[in-house]
Amino acid sequence: MKPVIGITIGYQEANYDILALRDGYGKGVAAAGGNPIFLPPQGDPQETATVIDGLILAGGPDPDPQLFNEDPFPGMGRVDWKRDRFELALTRAMQKGKKPVFGICRGLQMINIAYGGSLYQDIEKERSAAIAHFQKGDFCHLSHCLRITPNSRLFHLVKKEKMQVNSFHHQAVKMLGGDLLVAAIAPDGIIEAVEGENGVFAVQWHPELLLHIPENYLLFKELICTCSKGKMAL
Ligand code: MN
Repeated sequence: MKPVIGITIGYQEANYDILALRDGYGKGVAAAGGNPIFLPPQGDPQETATVIDGLILAGGPDPDPQLFNEDPFPGMGRVDWKRDRFELALTRAMQKGKKPVFGICRGLQMINIAYGGSLYQDIEKERSAAIAHFQKGDFCHLSHCLRITPNSRLFHLVKKEKMQVNSFHHQAVKMLGGDLLVAAIAPDGIIEAVEGENGVFAVQWHPELLLHIPENYLLFKELICTCSKGKMAL
């Protein structure tokens, strides 16, 4: 059977009756050979972690800064405390089970928090000379470049030292969580990709909107391959 990949899903902005997520996450998983299932912030995350082979922490609202012991700054956006708690517990349960976790945008930030790191609540307000990380072009526009860390897993995957990505985030890693490695940085030093043990990896851009570009599709493929290997080892 194909690996089952849980994809977290949250509430539509200003409407807590409706769950919503862009289609690219499920498409990416299916195209790469997995079966996607969506995980709303409900139920028992520990039990859920036992039935999925891998997890995608999807994009969404800002993580609550209380999770890294800060009060909210004025530049902070919407938070969803229920989703934060669910995703943190799920991520920790996956780590315990040594199952892969792939974080996208907010997902990278949640992984960093799960590893004890912190975030810039608003890049523009907290960092001088930062480039624009919330692009105004369409979703597929590749607005900034990044430098990939030689010998990182990402480097071995895409076989490139430089890459061009889209960018829809106003928050970023401030203090890197323990046991995480930086896999890519933007020209202003903002961390754009991280990696950890047991198939943990995350990107700050949105590969689910760029599935037509091989390097981005490969990220989904890598998750499915890692999950398949994990299943065979059982
Ligand atoms: Mn960026």
